[in-house]
Amino acid sequence: MRKVISAALCFVTLLAVLGGAVFFFPGGLSAMEPVKILVNGREVTFDVSPFLQEGRVLVPVSRLAEALGCGVKWDEKTNAVEITCPAFPQGAVGEYRFWRLLAEQAAREAFKYLERRGDLLVLTNAGYVTVGGSSTAPCLDGLIAATGCSPGRGNLLEVHTADSKPLWFFFFEKKSGQGVFVEVDGAKAAGFVASGSDPNAVDSNPAQFFKKVVAENVSAEKLLANPGDWNQKVQMKVFSGLEFNIVTIANLAAKGAPPGLVKAALFHDHLCPGVTSGYLLANYLKKEFPLRSPDESYYVLAVPPWCKDDALQVVLNTTPGKSGMAVIPVNASARENLKPEAKNLAGIYFRYDSKAKKGDGVVLAFDFAKAQSLSGIDMNKGFTWETRLKSDLWYLDYLDRPELFINVIKKFELKPGEVPDDYAQPGVNPLARLNLLK
Ligand SMILES: [Zn+2]
Repeated sequence: MRKVISAALCFVTLLAVLGGAVFFFPGGLSAMEPVKILVNGREVTFDVSPFLQEGRVLVPVSRLAEALGCGVKWDEKTNAVEITCPAFPQGAVGEYRFWRLLAEQAAREAFKYLERRGDLLVLTNAGYVTVGGSSTAPCLDGLIAATGCSPGRGNLLEVHTADSKPLWFFFFEKKSGQGVFVEVDGAKAAGFVASGSDPNAVDSNPAQFFKKVVAENVSAEKLLANPGDWNQKVQMKVFSGLEFNIVTIANLAAKGAPPGLVKAALFHDHLCPGVTSGYLLANYLKKEFPLRSPDESYYVLAVPPWCKDDALQVVLNTTPGKSGMAVIPVNASARENLKPEAKNLAGIYFRYDSKAKKGDGVVLAFDFAKAQSLSGIDMNKGFTWETRLKSDLWYLDYLDRPELFINVIKKFELKPGEVPDDYAQPGVNPLARLNLLK
């Protein structure tokens, strides 16, 4: 009991820190009446229910603190409850609250057009975008609070974007394919944040911050059944030019694609057969050319580079910044010079052991023509988004069979003293070095 009473005192302090949480201290309740606790409009459930005693509502502190995103520790020696809430940079509480409330309101706006049967998926570029120097990351907390979707559940997907791009949210119901695109008016939001106004004011007129709210059914089956209809909307830029990005990622995630492929599509900002080829190449390497010791790592020579290399960076963490990748373009005339066996060239992949100073490599080819003939999808027939979306979905059934599309052009050992980087130095032509030119 003592614990519960300290709890009540503690949460008063908590309120002063966080503000905005909604609590009631009703006078007319009897002791036996259940007391509901709402945090930002959502009911909190307790193992021991809150109750009324002598005109005060007593609430178990641990569950309440959790609902507010805080940690709780009970110190038996000192008989103290210690509550630690995530710290904000000084002066940022108002900004945090503004972005969080804005995202919650965007979700509420979207709910007007949705059935809400528990199969929601949310896409957003929040977190990447900054508006007037203010981070939009708090929107992610607002989306979690309002929709129950989260990164951990795999249904809150963060789409990579330049920080200067407009902020948007897309709410998508997997079964029906119904979606709602909400674009934030950056100038309005920036002005509001800069003014230092009370962030709770967002709740009274959220619509002023939304530049666009568009509801469309974008299930892949529906779009592909009448491609002409959707193409008109693509021309009209119904989702502000993000139609392909949104439609491919939403449908991919709705089909239960593996997390690695979804991550790759999020980093690349759309799903295309190019990204899928990169995911397949990563799977092929892991299967046929695996790392043999913890000291060994991959080095990708992206020659020629295409969308695949973004997937390779995500799955294998072969980023150029960490010397895991180098990129060498191959133009049409350089391609003409390739030996016939290298015509489907899809990169040179090294395994290098930094301790033993030893490594080897494999030159791989990816056969898009084979995928086309297997799938029967003619990439030159139909709208660009249409053939790509069709292929994206078709490849989902072949993700664990990379050897269908990938073959080895050449295997080689690094000479003593050679490192993978030697193949990407200015003036070095790795294709000549590996004898792949006519
Ligand atoms: Zn792409």
